[in-house]
Amino acid sequence: MHSRALVLFSGGQDSATCLAWALDRYAHVETIGFDYGQRHRIELDCRQAFLGGLRTQFPHWTARLGPDHLLDLGLLGQLSDTALTADKAIAFERSGLPNTFVPGRNLLFFTFAAALAYRRELSVLVGGMCETDYSGYPDCRDDTLKSLQVTLGLGLDTRVVIETPLMWIDKAQTWQLAHRLGGDALVDLVRTATHSCYLGDHETLHDWGYGCGACPACELRANGWRGYVAAR
Ligand code: ZN
Repeated sequence: MHSRALVLFSGGQDSATCLAWALDRYAHVETIGFDYGQRHRIELDCRQAFLGGLRTQFPHWTARLGPDHLLDLGLLGQLSDTALTADKAIAFERSGLPNTFVPGRNLLFFTFAAALAYRRELSVLVGGMCETDYSGYPDCRDDTLKSLQVTLGLGLDTRVVIETPLMWIDKAQTWQLAHRLGGDALVDLVRTATHSCYLGDHETLHDWGYGCGACPACELRANGWRGYVAAR
């Protein structure tokens, strides 16, 4: 019934792991990414590197992997003035939200994804949102996405399923999930061909991947890796 999925694939660790999860589960999987003038644009290059790595190293998934879609959402730059899109330092604002927050970004992403999925006859939307390593983004919360699933289904008059396989696991478990899905080869591909650093540093290779090593995204990724290695 629900055999065709669209993965919101940013080029980061979480969505890359979700893509592998979807390929393991669904007969046909397509990917969507968004170009919104993000400062860590290296993510967009990582998307292609990761997709290429999947195609060459995981032949049993190649047949399931359909087209990649990149949407230009440059208009988000007009709506937000944050550390991701403007030349500002990352800080936590009085609201408790990091100023990397583009208000409602995931609501927009899912809505555009649902419109594309409708056209492509894909009934499942897969995203890497997570409440466990809670980053303060209310549009990543489980309740928000369950509500959005209902809204999109009503608005499109079709069954829309939103899957978030990482919602209740931590970053160490995300590495473990990658290992379960594709062994050391997939862990290595996630490590070297995905990008999470807020500052867009893709020069320095650590044991947990590329990044500045100091921003909140790097800290989260590095801590998760250490937990994963310790539990191996
Ligand atoms: Zn960083």
